[in-house]
Amino acid sequence: MVELHDVSKEYGDVAALRGVSLGIEHGELVGIVGPSGSGKSTMLNMIGTLDRPSGGTVRIAGHDVLTLTDRQLSALRANVIGFVFQQFHLAAGVPVLDNVADGLLYAGPALRERRLRAYDALERVGLGHRLGHRPHELSGGERQRVAIARAVVGDPRLLLADEPTGNLDSRSGAGVMELLRELNAGGTTVVVITHDRDIAASLPRQVEMLDGRVVPEARMGALDGVRR
Ligand code: ADP
Repeated sequence: MVELHDVSKEYGDVAALRGVSLGIEHGELVGIVGPSGSGKSTMLNMIGTLDRPSGGTVRIAGHDVLTLTDRQLSALRANVIGFVFQQFHLAAGVPVLDNVADGLLYAGPALRERRLRAYDALERVGLGHRLGHRPHELSGGERQRVAIARAVVGDPRLLLADEPTGNLDSRSGAGVMELLRELNAGGTTVVVITHDRDIAASLPRQVEMLDGRVVPEARMGALDGVRR
């Protein structure tokens, strides 16, 4: 699903990624973990094709990102990738049903079809009873569920979540993680960025970042059995 080979990314003289190689298979649930400034968001931008690498290759669902035009990249994002952000990014004043239906604007079905699919997605996240609510009438946990419904309404194969529990209390956060696990169990590849070690530890695979590099997973594994 995701293949990064020797990827680097520079912002001016700041090296945000330094020769990162990483493969993520279809159906995996992966946490990308590391301290602030370690390169997690830059990595997500690479995987989400929101930005192009300064060096190395990024392949998503078999497509080499550097060879695609902007239009092809938009199509790849619309058809293959769903995004969830810490700040939810819902449209203020717009009913929940249409916030989710708008996730299908690029794909182009008619309004009625978009709304029907939005309703299905909202049912999946347990919010089928909140269709007419506006975002400000919902709790933080509910808003994040709406954002997740919008991200999955087009049935993306890859779901990228950037600190999805960062603005939530621990109970709502646990609910959101459970939802991501359910989507993964249904076949979606899920990548979660987090600086929360407990959340990362609850995921089947963790990719640890430090100073723009991936800490080799074998080395992390060697530390697992060590008690303090
Ligand atoms: P994290 O998500 O782990 O906090 P980031 O990927 O956001 O880390 O940042 C990695 C490094 O790249 C940091 O030193 C950050 O300041 C720098 N950086 C990220 N984005 C930009 C940008 N658009 N312009 C300049 N520097 C950036």
